[in-house]
Amino acid sequence: MRFRKLVWDLFFPSGFLFFAALFLVRNAKFVAKIEPWLDTFLPMFFVLLLFLAWRFHRGRVVFATATLGLAYATLSTLLGQATPAASTALLFHSLGLVIAFNFLLLAAMQDRGVFGKWGISFAGWIALQSFVLFGALSRFEKPLGALLQMRPLDGILKFAPAFVANSIQASATPQMVMLVGSVSVAVLALALLVRRSHVEAGLFWAFLASTLGLREFALGTSLQIHFALAGIILFFSVLEFSYALAYRDELTGLPARRALYETFKNLGSRYVIAMVDVDHFKRFNDRHGHDVGDQVLKLVASRLAQVGGGGQAFRYGGEEFTIVFPGRDLDDAVPHLEALREEIEESRFTLRSAARPQKKPKEKPKEKSKVTRRIENDVRERGRGLSVTVSIGVAMADSRDADPEQVLKTADQALYRAKGAGRNFVFVQKNTRKRR
Ligand code: GH3
Ligand code: MG
Ligand code: MG
Repeated sequence: MRFRKLVWDLFFPSGFLFFAALFLVRNAKFVAKIEPWLDTFLPMFFVLLLFLAWRFHRGRVVFATATLGLAYATLSTLLGQATPAASTALLFHSLGLVIAFNFLLLAAMQDRGVFGKWGISFAGWIALQSFVLFGALSRFEKPLGALLQMRPLDGILKFAPAFVANSIQASATPQMVMLVGSVSVAVLALALLVRRSHVEAGLFWAFLASTLGLREFALGTSLQIHFALAGIILFFSVLEFSYALAYRDELTGLPARRALYETFKNLGSRYVIAMVDVDHFKRFNDRHGHDVGDQVLKLVASRLAQVGGGGQAFRYGGEEFTIVFPGRDLDDAVPHLEALREEIEESRFTLRSAARPQKKPKEKPKEKSKVTRRIENDVRERGRGLSVTVSIGVAMADSRDADPEQVLKTADQALYRAKGAGRNFVFVQKNTRKRR
């Protein structure tokens, strides 16, 4: 389950797009078909992408697109002119460096407003790069050439296996570009692994796509296809990010209430809905602090996500969750809910920050140490961690036109009765079967 989620986070949809496109590029017929489109539509597509990324507040995608757009504009303008071969190589290598360096910067940053201080500085940085590449490449030929001739890898290559060292020595790509490119890939990959957001995945795969395009070393369909691919990857990363923003709960990672209502639209006539509420959570928050409360919610949510019997868990809001069992009846669903209640009761939640001072504002050191002492005492009291229980109210659709929202209300009333029955309880509405 964890592994599947990891693969999904890293490859969907950017990675899949990347490999699908690499596969398509090998098909000469396909390439011949889209070639005439690319000249016309690629610049327009980049403009559209800039607009979309700006509207969705993804500042880094704006500047990744600007970087790709700059590279594309430079190549299509300058390579059309009669340029000596030496400058062509210089242009390609400089662009390789610019793309790698800009993506490296973006990987290390966070999305911020395009029209804020950060955005204006980054725009200035790209404008400076445009000036050098577009207007004054001949004037900067010497320093750029010197930079690209540096061989920072020679020292390391002594320790590398011979075939690696030889292939790097023989490559037409300057060592400087390889070095910055590799650091960039490593930092982008690290950011993707740590943050796991669609934008991170987009930057990583778009960088690989555009770099592959430059490697081909000529302005042709291949370069256009790879740049178009990078753009498409960024486009989908913005869409997926926004989708997750609307449909996923940020704290717990569970689908949010909006996703629950979408699910409601596709339920048949037979289904079970359960409302789950953490017992005495307010007291828990008051005793241990909001941060610890948040961690407990995450841990409870991760248990709920694993519910069996075809159940899907949602965060309804606050410390309330909804579980939907499409196509099931009470006999199918209740045993799984009972197992869930029991599992949560028996879990001891070891909290990351339980034995450490909580993150509180610095100006209140006294309060901080008091809280710490209280948590430490609690942890000692309970031996292996903190424990919580949940109450669950369950209801089932009972006729063809049962409205899911009505069933949810009934489940909510059942929850109320589960609380009344002493909490840590599953109360089943309709056939009034009670379980403990
Ligand atoms: P009961 O057993 O009757 O459900 O008692 P309760 O204290 O859990 O019920 P109540 O609904 O009064 O309290 C819910 C509390 O959950 C109130 C609020 O402070 C807390 N809460 C809601 N959302 C969050 C959240 O995202 N994080 C944290 N830490 N607390 C939250
Ligand atoms: Mg509540
Ligand atoms: Mg509660």
